[in-house]
Amino acid sequence: MAGEPQADCLFCKIVAGEVPATVVRETETTLAFRDINPQAPTHVLVIPKAHYADAAALAAGAPQLAADMLREAGEVAADDKTAESGYRIVFNTGSGAGQTVFHAHAHVLGGRGLEWPPG
Ligand code: C5P
Repeated sequence: MAGEPQADCLFCKIVAGEVPATVVRETETTLAFRDINPQAPTHVLVIPKAHYADAAALAAGAPQLAADMLREAGEVAADDKTAESGYRIVFNTGSGAGQTVFHAHAHVLGGRGLEWPPG
């Protein structure tokens, strides 16, 4: 069922505390933790605790949760003092766009210059 934890999902395991992560923020519905392979001084993943495969499924199935994630992404940037210099929120969606974990997540990237267009 939409939103239910998936046994084979890495991020569901992080939510359940079965896989360690460096958590920086937590709400009733979201979790934010540092990316294990950071691409910028600030590289935090914001995820919904409920399982949705990607951003589109999340927005269709739980729009308020999508809004909660965006708010948390902004809080992460503020906590890391990257809000003023600028930061990027990225949802890789589909393997062709680089998505490797099929549990919706927002990358919050900041603390260095960010090129446009992205690679
Ligand atoms: O957008 P994509 O699906 O590629 O992002 C998944 C991200 O999850 C990667 O940046 C990877 O470094 C991160 N990751 C993590 N902790 C893990 C496994 C993956 O932060 N245990």
